[in-house]
Amino acid sequence: MALDLKNVLKQYFGYDSFRPQQAEIITSILEEKDSLVLMPTGGGKSICFQLPAMLFPNLTLVISPLISLMKDQVDALLENGIPAAYFNSSVSAMNKEILVREAIEGKIKLLYMAPETLFQIKDTWLHQLKISMVAIDEAHCVSMWGHDFRPEYQRIGSLRAELPGVPFMALTATADKITRKDIIKQLKLKEPGFFLSSFNRPNLSLSVRAQIPKQKKVKEVLQFIEKRKGQSGIIYCLSRKETEQWSQTLVNAGLSCAYYHAGLSPEARDEVQNGFIHDDIHIICATIAFGMGIDKSNVRWVIHNNLPKNLEGYYQEIGRAGRDGLLSDTVLYYNYRDVVMLNDFIQESEFKPIYQEKINRILQYAEANTCRRRILLAYFSEHLPEDCKNCDVCLNPPEVIDGKIIAQKALSALFRTNQKIGINTCINILRGSKSMEIYENNYQEIKTYGAGTEYSFNDWQHYITQLVNLGCIEIAYDQNFHLKITEFGNEILKTNKSINLTKPQPRETLKAKKEKE
Ligand code: ADP
Ligand code: ZN
Repeated sequence: MALDLKNVLKQYFGYDSFRPQQAEIITSILEEKDSLVLMPTGGGKSICFQLPAMLFPNLTLVISPLISLMKDQVDALLENGIPAAYFNSSVSAMNKEILVREAIEGKIKLLYMAPETLFQIKDTWLHQLKISMVAIDEAHCVSMWGHDFRPEYQRIGSLRAELPGVPFMALTATADKITRKDIIKQLKLKEPGFFLSSFNRPNLSLSVRAQIPKQKKVKEVLQFIEKRKGQSGIIYCLSRKETEQWSQTLVNAGLSCAYYHAGLSPEARDEVQNGFIHDDIHIICATIAFGMGIDKSNVRWVIHNNLPKNLEGYYQEIGRAGRDGLLSDTVLYYNYRDVVMLNDFIQESEFKPIYQEKINRILQYAEANTCRRRILLAYFSEHLPEDCKNCDVCLNPPEVIDGKIIAQKALSALFRTNQKIGINTCINILRGSKSMEIYENNYQEIKTYGAGTEYSFNDWQHYITQLVNLGCIEIAYDQNFHLKITEFGNEILKTNKSINLTKPQPRETLKAKKEKE
């Protein structure tokens, strides 16, 4: 081979070898083929277009949605002596003029641009540029199936007709199958090479805790942090208020902690972010606004206080832990109120069915009784041949039992209260509770009262949640979360049909297990 790509890598970027897939991707684009690159964050996507940009005779146009990311990349390139520039709303008019001249004269190798800027200049000077390739970063933004849809991105496809023969490279760290198909369609990629890097992060433990009451959750989290003294971690919350509440709780417990959300001033946000990066602040309680573009290698844990909107977001957020490859822990807490809240968010959206499906998928993940990593990777089209041994399900495989009697007891309690009770009341009836609510409603009179004393409150919670997941019971979100018996539930109640349930088990992480040993 005439061209030694490794030498080029060393010369311009100072690296000795390619990361997985990089050489293949670069070779393909140098042959002027379109490509779709799916590589996790930190996998090394930038080199895939930056290196060929140095070998192509003309300009490489890079389309990127975020001004801050553009600036970081261009600064890094300039530092390596590579002529690069960005063109966006933050550039002054005078500098724009200089930049345009340089780009037209071929003095720039890589020009970064936001899609909206691209279309502002489309009819003025864009056609004067000689372009060798177009790279579209964060390509999932082009698809409404992705999790960060940006309408401006959809116009990029129209660029295709104006740049005949110029190869396009679409790059993303997050795209399920439908999104990928859509990217190819929207960007009009021609028989693109598809490059999928592994998304597996075996050093991240995965665990999920369902339906944990607030007080208990706080206690658990404090214990969790206690075992990880001085280590960096992030608590993700759905609402700004919750980030502030968590932060207060942790500060009160004497921990080094701050909160972060889009309601803070840019200065305050920078301060928190820098404090975290430099280990002055150990813990950040944040909304999903936190983390984009943060390159911190020693984040040891990530906790989700709520169910995220989709698996793409969840994967990215837990992925902020353990970049250095060391064991790191992730815990996802969720309860049905999260699901209600997420559903509320999407009610008005024109993409509601898509968002709904994504919520369903993450719920399935959260409620899984099989290896979670397999489910997560399968979502990104990756097949894990074996169970991972580092998720809560693998470490404590649930024992399956015949759940017919359990199901019948719960369903009968619902039936006898005209399906007008929520999960807590149902459990209180089954366990023969002597609470006010029971006597006020005369629940002590019904036949199922006290029929389930052999199980603890938590066990019942576990069983009823499963009955919901299995489709025996539905939660009427619009009727005070009352539990309703489904058709399938009726069958279980009235026929001899059997049903398998898993036994509740305390679950622990690999690390916790190792620490004990
Ligand atoms: P992505 O865009 O996929 O999130 P980046 O392109 O920002 O990832 O790369 C992540 C990090 O890996 C950067 O610090 C980059 O310099 C480094 N990197 C990329 N390719 C290589 C390589 N071949 N060898 C060593 N480091 C690399
Ligand atoms: Zn597993």
